[in-house]
Amino acid sequence: MGKMGEDAQFKMLIEECAELIVAVAKLGRAKNGNTLLNVAEEVADVEICLAQVKQMYPFIAEQAEHEKVVKYARLEQLLEKR
Ligand SMILES: [Mg+2]
Repeated sequence: MGKMGEDAQFKMLIEECAELIVAVAKLGRAKNGNTLLNVAEEVADVEICLAQVKQMYPFIAEQAEHEKVVKYARLEQLLEKR
């Protein structure tokens, strides 16, 4: 993918993240079939964008997996202390 394609992909990720933020924020007003469906749609959009970004940058994909292992371990430690 050329630089133009990559820039477009990152721009799309920004837009989809913003749409997910808005959808989640609306849950504060009402949690119903409509608003929950909207969150599900935006989660799907963000996950699709993330998959494409990870395909463009395998480093991001691999490092994110590593970060998840570290962060889950830290979270587990915190939960054990309670
Ligand atoms: Mg969207």
